[in-house]
Amino acid sequence: MNEIIGELLPPTRLMLTPGPSNMDARVYRALSTPLVGHMDPWFIEMMGDVQSLLRRVFQTQNRITFPISASGSGGIEAAVLNPLEEGDECIVCSNGWFSERMAVIAERSPAVKVIRVEAPYGSTVDPEAVRRAGKGKKIKFVGLAHGETSSGVVHRLADFRQVADEFGALLVVDAVATLAGMPLDIDREKIDICFSGSQKAISAPPGMSPITVNTGVEELMRARKSPVPSWYFDFTPIMTMWGGERTYHHTPPISLIYGMREALRLVLEEGLEARWERHRNNQQALVAGLEAMGLEMFVPDQADRLITVTGVKIPAGIDDRKVRLQLLDEFNIEIAGGFGPVKGKIWRVGLMGYSSQNTHVLLFLAAFEKVLLDQGLRVPAGAGVAAAIRSYQQAGQTAVAGARK
Ligand SMILES: *Cc1c(COP(=O)(O)O)cnc(C)c1O
Repeated sequence: MNEIIGELLPPTRLMLTPGPSNMDARVYRALSTPLVGHMDPWFIEMMGDVQSLLRRVFQTQNRITFPISASGSGGIEAAVLNPLEEGDECIVCSNGWFSERMAVIAERSPAVKVIRVEAPYGSTVDPEAVRRAGKGKKIKFVGLAHGETSSGVVHRLADFRQVADEFGALLVVDAVATLAGMPLDIDREKIDICFSGSQKAISAPPGMSPITVNTGVEELMRARKSPVPSWYFDFTPIMTMWGGERTYHHTPPISLIYGMREALRLVLEEGLEARWERHRNNQQALVAGLEAMGLEMFVPDQADRLITVTGVKIPAGIDDRKVRLQLLDEFNIEIAGGFGPVKGKIWRVGLMGYSSQNTHVLLFLAAFEKVLLDQGLRVPAGAGVAAAIRSYQQAGQTAVAGARK
């Protein structure tokens, strides 16, 4: 085989998926700036900038706040392995693919008992069921996904904080799908361990998982009797790299840290409140449009719906894959299908970070109408776009305004 492999030329897609999201041109630019060594004084100072940006986005004073060199799943692994010791019991609220992953990872810890409190896809876990499950037990942590991306469901964190307090347990929150897209305030909501992912509402490339841990957890780690059963994800030595000493632990993905720095800077340039509002307005317009087209949302109650990912029921007789492939081939738009029990039953439309723009919503609704008509669904002409425009007008915005407002 002596074929010449051509130059790399990826297609330009609009990613309306539950991640990765599209990126601002300034993030691409940051990625292509010169590589420096990870022990270079300039880089070390820059790491400090990334940490202070992250603290502002997480809304925390926590010393241990840094991006882990791993995707969001690495964040789950670090969050779960650091506090758990042999003989511990923990509760994981499992209502979908990603929260279940937290339970699976916790079970890989040596001699740990994981109590699952489950809810079906599309539903929230009942805090009262968590209270019952942990009653009279010594629970190390209550873990849950703030936003469960596999079904488009969001949890009210305050209820779980209260239950965890009753057990004297830590609260561990997966905010991969929500940080920088929906209200989340680590210190005010008293979240002990929280992690996210770079490629969702932050709109940086995949491969980093920002995490933050409070002083209570730091103490717990110091008091550990056995080493954390992962060398790579052990917070204490990583903090020699991200903490005061800045000694080598592993070579961090330097270019990804550049991208993360710029993406976080853009989050704060827009402002957290403005960013949340943009995500909310775009999701409302999307839902209004889809409903006007006669489609049904997977999560019935708006209060339980994740703002960043919307689950839509696939109408009877319509082929999930054909619709998604046509959207991709004809319009360069990617949306996601379902996992596990909702495979073939729902589509998931992500409006995360840079992807969450009113022009994207209008383009998607128009393209979706065309594709659904081609696939044999009767859709009222123009109804989706019209409803979305009305929704923007009600929100006090013109439907044609640009990206970041
Ligand atoms: C995407 C996602 C993950 C996994 O992140 P990866 O970067 O794919 O490893 C975990 N939890 C939630 C809620 C997610 O949305």
